[in-house]
Amino acid sequence: MKLGLLGCPVGHSRSPKLFSILARLLKRKISYKAVAVAPGDFMAAALGARARGWRGVNVTIPFKIAAAAGADQLTPVARALGAVNTLRFDRTGMFGHNTDADGLGDALKYEKIILKGKEALIFGAGGAARAAAWALARNGARKVRFSGRTKLSANKCARDLAPTFPETSFSSGAPRNADIWINATPLGLSGYPDVSPAPASLRSPRSAVDLVYGRRTAFQREAGALGADVFDGTAMLVFQALRSFEFWDKPMGIRRRAHLAEMLIKEL
Ligand code: NAP
Repeated sequence: MKLGLLGCPVGHSRSPKLFSILARLLKRKISYKAVAVAPGDFMAAALGARARGWRGVNVTIPFKIAAAAGADQLTPVARALGAVNTLRFDRTGMFGHNTDADGLGDALKYEKIILKGKEALIFGAGGAARAAAWALARNGARKVRFSGRTKLSANKCARDLAPTFPETSFSSGAPRNADIWINATPLGLSGYPDVSPAPASLRSPRSAVDLVYGRRTAFQREAGALGADVFDGTAMLVFQALRSFEFWDKPMGIRRRAHLAEMLIKEL
């Protein structure tokens, strides 16, 4: 199966390594190429991949919204989030899906973070922040607050998610104390400043989850120093990749997914 990743930058991505491990574990022939795409060239790159017989692609920064706009059909979660991280190609066109939300939901369960009745604070208001809010609300979080550097985007996130999850109270604005923190900004990612978006005035959350993976960022260090249980984005990366693979191939079921995730997390 021919697969790949379209984004910019893609050099830091562990997805090619992840899919080569998955191919070995599944005894399947899978090629997965990361392709750096110039701004404005996303649709040409996706159509080119489809023309070369690729089954689908993952989509990353900064094209998730362009992928949602360019897909011929969207799954309900992709439509609700307005962002696509997985495209499947077939004769009828491009089918867009978003596995970040369920991938993070799986990861939070894997990390044994209890969400039911909890208050969460999300730093950032982009695609991953929306996916995080979806995962939190879907798993019973009582309150979800977006704190973004652009007020309007944070307000819009809260407004857009509220109708889907009437049992969860969504808000936006300055950071407030919460049980769970999620860093959904790229702060700490290679090429971005390594500073925490969490102000020092907040008390420690129970858990702090950084969507950045593979590095001990300032967000993780400072939350750890406060006493929080700290997790990076590796488990999310693995679960969203498995869910993408299922969208291209076929559903594998909770137990098999959890078993493969365990092995991938160890090897990555
Ligand atoms: P995005 O749509 O570009 O959104 C980024 C958000 O962070 C926006 O709200 C942006 O604010 C804010 N931001 C950007 N630079 C900032 C800065 N210097 N200071 C404060 N806020 C800043 O990106 P995304 O797709 O949501 O991804 C966000 C992060 O999640 C990235 O690090 C990505 O690698 C990670 N991620 C990880 C996984 C995983 O599997 N582990 C999956 C998806 C995403 P503005 O609105 O003001 O620009």
